[in-house]
Amino acid sequence: MIRLYDTMERKKRAFEPADPKRITMYVCGPTVYGRAHIGNARPAVIFDLLRRVLEHEYPDAEVIYARNVTDVDDKIINSAKEEGVDTSVITDRYERFYLEDMGALGVNPPTIAPHATQEIGPMVEMIAALIAKGHAYEADGHVLFHVLSDPDYGVLSRRDREAMLAGARVEVAPYKRDPADFVLWKPSEEGTVGWDSPWGRGRPGWHIECSAMIHEHFGETIDIHGGGLDLIFPHHENEIAQSRCAHEGKPLARYWVHNGFVDMGAEKMSKSLGNIITPAELLGQGHRGETLRLALLSAHYRQPLAWTDELIAQSKAVLDKWYGTLRDVQPFLSAGAYDEIDGNVIEALRDDLNTPGAIAVLNGLNDHLRQFRNKYAHGGSDISAQALAMQRDEFVNSGRLLGFLNHKPDDWFKGRIIHMSLSDGVGVTDTAGAEVFTGERDIEQRIAARAEAKANRDFATADRIRDELRAEGIQLLDRADGKTDWERM
Ligand SMILES: [Zn+2]
Repeated sequence: MIRLYDTMERKKRAFEPADPKRITMYVCGPTVYGRAHIGNARPAVIFDLLRRVLEHEYPDAEVIYARNVTDVDDKIINSAKEEGVDTSVITDRYERFYLEDMGALGVNPPTIAPHATQEIGPMVEMIAALIAKGHAYEADGHVLFHVLSDPDYGVLSRRDREAMLAGARVEVAPYKRDPADFVLWKPSEEGTVGWDSPWGRGRPGWHIECSAMIHEHFGETIDIHGGGLDLIFPHHENEIAQSRCAHEGKPLARYWVHNGFVDMGAEKMSKSLGNIITPAELLGQGHRGETLRLALLSAHYRQPLAWTDELIAQSKAVLDKWYGTLRDVQPFLSAGAYDEIDGNVIEALRDDLNTPGAIAVLNGLNDHLRQFRNKYAHGGSDISAQALAMQRDEFVNSGRLLGFLNHKPDDWFKGRIIHMSLSDGVGVTDTAGAEVFTGERDIEQRIAARAEAKANRDFATADRIRDELRAEGIQLLDRADGKTDWERM
């Protein structure tokens, strides 16, 4: 049984899907006008993991995970103006980058990715229904949701009216009946993106997008609605008000799950503060996607996560240790044959996605496997190859449930990790592969030159080659048999 902390109830609750054969989860996705930063990556990784855990726990169910793409928005329109291009040029580019960056972090694409611009019809319908039911009104080309028409408004954020008015960053517009009223539809300027509607040519507000798309794809009530803590108010509060008022009080979601922020030192990482770091930058510096994923999962998802260089270094050290064990076990064994996952890893994840607990169990499995391997390697023990293989497979399978240990140990240490390019629908592109292996041939040639120098007792040259490679991030490992292996640091 999975237990999740439900923001609506402010407590952990046993998760029971409305239909155990069809589990529905919706997470607010990216507004595609810039490269995602590590703070944006956190919910993508967390809800990817929750989806994996749901699929593991409900093997006979269809788990449908929707993550929307907000592809109409003021920021997108401004970017398009700045570049002098169509908005779709901006949105196509940054959606592709988003999928590539998240793919590198082991985030699988959602089951469905509804795009706002493709779902204007359902939004217009929902807005019309809200007007008909007396919850929304038209004023000066805008349609606004009338907050005072909904006595339950504020149920998720538990804010009183004063706090809501202060927190809503209310734009003082003369056409609003009440300062807390929010936009469902607004007019489009000449020459900018827009759609015809009963209220004139315009475009939807942000909040209506999620309510209408959830209804379109799932119906009135979903099992899990997720997103970052900053979405609780006003975005999720407004989604709830729209959906409940349009659907005779039926709840929008049965569980509300929110992740904490990533901070850089004392401040939340955010574009407006200018203190962002992106997965693309970090991958470009040579960090592996799994390292960043481990760093993002190292704290419990509801806690703030402090993003530091030490956190990245610690995460890399943990994965080096795990892959090092697998490399040392490998020579004894063939490919995996067992599909067991360690019960304690699952138990930790069932408990409100306790990732620090699950990672601690993985560390224990690693240590246990290391001991098994050493006993087996030294002989004289009663450990069979089969028992060793089972330990190895259980460790790998348990790691993979969290999205780790997807590479061959040798590829991990040599940095032979070419991230999936989702944009062109191909896994590894030939050119990228060729570049990596050309680089390796060069390394091998220099190692051979160093060996020759050593044989000629030209130690100055041998040391120079070693130092040059080290400066390029290549560490040489002289083995007992006289051969030299290498790793990318
Ligand atoms: Zn949303």
